Amino acid sequence: MTDFDLGPEVIARVREASDVVSVISDQVRLKRRGRTWEGLCPFHEEKTPSFTIDAEKGLYHCFGCHAGGDVFNFVMAQQNFNFPEAVEYLARRFGVDLPARSPGAQKRRRDEERQRSILEEAQRWFVDQLSSAGGAEAARELERRGFPKSSWASFGFGWAPDEWRGLVESLRARHPEGVLANAGLIVQPESGKSPYDRFRKRLMFPIRSGDGRLVAFGGRILGGGEPKSPNSQA
Ligand SMILES: [Zn+2]
Repeated sequence: MTDFDLGPEVIARVREASDVVSVISDQVRLKRRGRTWEGLCPFHEEKTPSFTIDAEKGLYHCFGCHAGGDVFNFVMAQQNFNFPEAVEYLARRFGVDLPARSPGAQKRRRDEERQRSILEEAQRWFVDQLSSAGGAEAARELERRGFPKSSWASFGFGWAPDEWRGLVESLRARHPEGVLANAGLIVQPESGKSPYDRFRKRLMFPIRSGDGRLVAFGGRILGGGEPKSPNSQA
């Protein structure tokens, strides 16, 4: 992840400074035609040019394969960069100074990373519980619903046992209880009594964002009991 603070103004500055024609001409031999440039598309095989750049708008488009976008999209596609990496690359190339992250932003980022690693630890614990003796009932239920054991890993299925402090006890040596509560894994009673696991006697599955990061858990209760399927994030 980038150490720079890539806010909208910074991104606009990098976009402004980046000469899309010069970036694309690294890969494509371009011919000028009025205010547009033309060349053979780098995204598909072709013999006559259907790839054009509108230099004023800073956009490229291919009429053959419909690839298109701005200078960031081009760099991401050609160099396999993610968006922040593309911004950094272009900033370096066109001499834009990027502001370092503020201490507050750095702390937020560390907190996010910590929370993510705690959720992954909890995920491993739920998975272990499912294959333990205590998870036998859940395992049978999964098979009965048409999820053979060979499919569990791809879904990330796990089991939250019927205990009040199973997960808390497994994580509290490494993580303060307040952090576990913020991650949505445990409940801290206002009375000051001992915190307890939010998920009990539930079939667990991870909820991941588009880029694969674990952001929350879904939990489905087995058999009778509460009808709700709570999520660890509202
Ligand atoms: Zn194309």
